[in-house]
Amino acid sequence: MPALIAKAREGDPRSVARLISMVENGDPALNEVAAALAKHAGDAQVVGLTGSPGVGKSTTTNELVRALRRSGRRVGVLAVDPSSPFTGGAILGDRIRMQEHTTDPGVYIRSMSSRGQLGGLSAATPQAVRVLEGAGCDVILVETVGVGQAEVEVASLADTTLVLLAPGMGDAIQAVKAGILEIADIFVVNKADRPGADATYRDIQGMLGLGERAAGDWRPQVVRATAVKGEGIDDVVAAIDKHRDWLEKTGELGRRREHRAAVEVEAIALGTLRARLADLHDGTALSDLAVRVAAGEIDPYAAAEELVKGL
Ligand code: GDP
Repeated sequence: MPALIAKAREGDPRSVARLISMVENGDPALNEVAAALAKHAGDAQVVGLTGSPGVGKSTTTNELVRALRRSGRRVGVLAVDPSSPFTGGAILGDRIRMQEHTTDPGVYIRSMSSRGQLGGLSAATPQAVRVLEGAGCDVILVETVGVGQAEVEVASLADTTLVLLAPGMGDAIQAVKAGILEIADIFVVNKADRPGADATYRDIQGMLGLGERAAGDWRPQVVRATAVKGEGIDDVVAAIDKHRDWLEKTGELGRRREHRAAVEVEAIALGTLRARLADLHDGTALSDLAVRVAAGEIDPYAAAEELVKGL
């Protein structure tokens, strides 16, 4: 294990991949890995990127990787798909757009699903981020599919959250419904080459205008891009850097990371409790209690007390 961690620290892609697999599968040796990586916490800037399918996330991610590499930064990409039962190469096999980066030693690309991990992706993703951070990435892009609750959760792991929109997808409205507006630090109106892009841009600016902000608060940036042509990507990078400066200047970076750590610790603790509960009773106690609750012999609170007794 120490050798594996040491090689990952040197940036060996196979070792990094193995550590992320361990995270995904909830490997028991994770405690040791986490202990070794703890001192690198906070070394990387974590950028979340979310938006509806087809909006241009993987195209944009690919272009962002290219732009960040041009500025000499090492980049990690975690493509997170909460609904996919596949891991590893399964999704990335389709990600032809990413292939130009697969031979670049300064880039790690990895897809993740929730298989095997207690607490699902909201528990596994921060650990994978820590692995990439430990491997020396300067920026880690966490790309999530869709705009549901899972995406909001994963996006909230980031220092900076990008929400992609495209014209004519009703995205601006959807974003409001899904609570995306609150988590976005930067909106990217992609497919700016398409009709309706200006209207989408105005919609989102209009909605942002309605929000209350105190002096010194971050006003979400809205950037237009045409990812297929690589246009506007430098503006997106500039907005990311600007947000990073703001985070540091205001102390918000520390606050966000502490909040994140709290969520992370709680998720691990709850997973541990659940596992201990299962060990304690080998499964039958809950069903026995359930029979008694259903029959009205005892109330559910008393049953729950019974279940956790001895933890
Ligand atoms: P994702 O599902 O959000 O990852 O979206 P993709 O990056 O796979 O892009 C979906 C489709 O939109 C692909 O056919 C892209 O080529 C296309 N696309 C991405 N960006 C743009 C853009 O800026 N303009 C136009 N016209 N098409 C784009």
